[in-house]
Amino acid sequence: MTSSHSLREEIDHFMHGLERRNPHETEFHQAVHEVVESVMPFVMANPSYKKAQILERMTEPDRIIIFRVSWEDDEGNIRANRAWRVQFNNSIGPYKGGLRFHPSVNQSILKFLGFEQTFKNSLTGLPMGGGKGGSNFNPKGKSDREVMRFCQSLMVELHRHIGEDTDVPAGDIGVGAREISYMFGMYKRLRNRFTGILTGKGLAFGGSLVRTEATGFGCVYFCNHMLEHTGDSLKGKTCIISGSGNVATYACQKATELGAKVLTLSDSGGFVYDPDGIDEDKLAFVKHLKEVQRGRISEYVKKYPKAEFHAEQRPWGVPADVAFPCATQNEINADEARTMLKNGVKVVCEGANMPSEYDAVQEFLKAKILFGPAKAANAGGVAVSGLEQSQNQLRISWSRDEVDGKLQEIMRDIHEKCVQYGNDGNSWVNYVDGANIAGFVKVADAMLAYGVV
Ligand code: NDP
Repeated sequence: MTSSHSLREEIDHFMHGLERRNPHETEFHQAVHEVVESVMPFVMANPSYKKAQILERMTEPDRIIIFRVSWEDDEGNIRANRAWRVQFNNSIGPYKGGLRFHPSVNQSILKFLGFEQTFKNSLTGLPMGGGKGGSNFNPKGKSDREVMRFCQSLMVELHRHIGEDTDVPAGDIGVGAREISYMFGMYKRLRNRFTGILTGKGLAFGGSLVRTEATGFGCVYFCNHMLEHTGDSLKGKTCIISGSGNVATYACQKATELGAKVLTLSDSGGFVYDPDGIDEDKLAFVKHLKEVQRGRISEYVKKYPKAEFHAEQRPWGVPADVAFPCATQNEINADEARTMLKNGVKVVCEGANMPSEYDAVQEFLKAKILFGPAKAANAGGVAVSGLEQSQNQLRISWSRDEVDGKLQEIMRDIHEKCVQYGNDGNSWVNYVDGANIAGFVKVADAMLAYGVV
């Protein structure tokens, strides 16, 4: 066994090298740091991983494709954006991971997402490698035709790099059913192939039931497993949720169905607080507002005047039992984490990817609350994407109950893996360690078996 001093030195040495090789990529450093803290003791206890430089190789993407996307707006102006596909690791299956359209997208963010995706996909138990992509294109305020022209132009390049056995992208922030449909339509035209090269497709053309709901539903199933493991459940709990997009709205729906009361939703303009709870009817209003009208969450209070809108603020100061951060990365800092703990939050279950800053995670772990990290808690989305791929390959469609049943089974299995590797021996589970180590082992063993490639 190694002393904790040499363990610290190993971690610092590793991180120093990674930061030097990847300057300015702060989100990527953060995602790797969290994993290395968990897996380094495991790597040092297993010299074969160390000898084969598994961690060094696992933190270097297989390749990154960067390309220009030129398109024409409705006024006839020529516009140019940058797009990426980060093919991170295909040791256990074809690359799989979403495409994000948001002005903040850069290489660091996509590398952090692709790296995390490798572990998440491993945790699902399905044969999927890790990848991520996207563009700094901002779909907000663009017409459908502008979005269509952008998606088509992006696919003119992307089609060369994807395929059902190579790389299968999906949606993420700013990429939903509309964008996937435009991209799939263009792929089909370019290649004359009707095949499952994207997931999140419409039901009429190869999509899976429950894919839209899967990330939010899966996150709530995972939360309930964490609570059940301590003899509790979501029933009767109050919840704060950030975001009002795909993940947030379906997390809200499932939490309400399981007997919880959701008090907040948000977007980049602020959050709404509804003391009576955001029930089924109110959520239907939000979904229509966001998906069809592409409006702002502030409009909620015009329709439901008992609710409050807090401009330019995040919902973490509202007292509640459970928090589901479902908007974006680094949306909870250490101060907000301390406020949440002081207000009685007992569970944090991450629907978004890396929504808690590194120091915020440390606060949650120190307080020994139930903390479900993204790579375990939000794996339901990619899991059902994997099921969509299977249905496409088999040319069949499973029923809603079949897919939901499989999703529930997968979330239960992921929870069990986290408990297996994260149990501290005193009945508390460190789900961060559990998810990181369980996700690591499968990919690392495949890489070892391949030799030096
Ligand atoms: P959507 O685009 O559907 O919704 C995103 C929501 O988050 C919107 O309400 C948006 O507000 C808000 N948001 C985005 N960026 C910011 C920001 N910088 N500050 C404040 N609010 C912000 O995306 P998804 O719901 O699909 O994704 C949300 C998170 O879940 C992301 O971290 C994504 O990576 C993760 N995820 C998604 C999966 C999926 O299947 N969709 C799968 C696994 C993880 P606004 O409209 O104002 O921008």
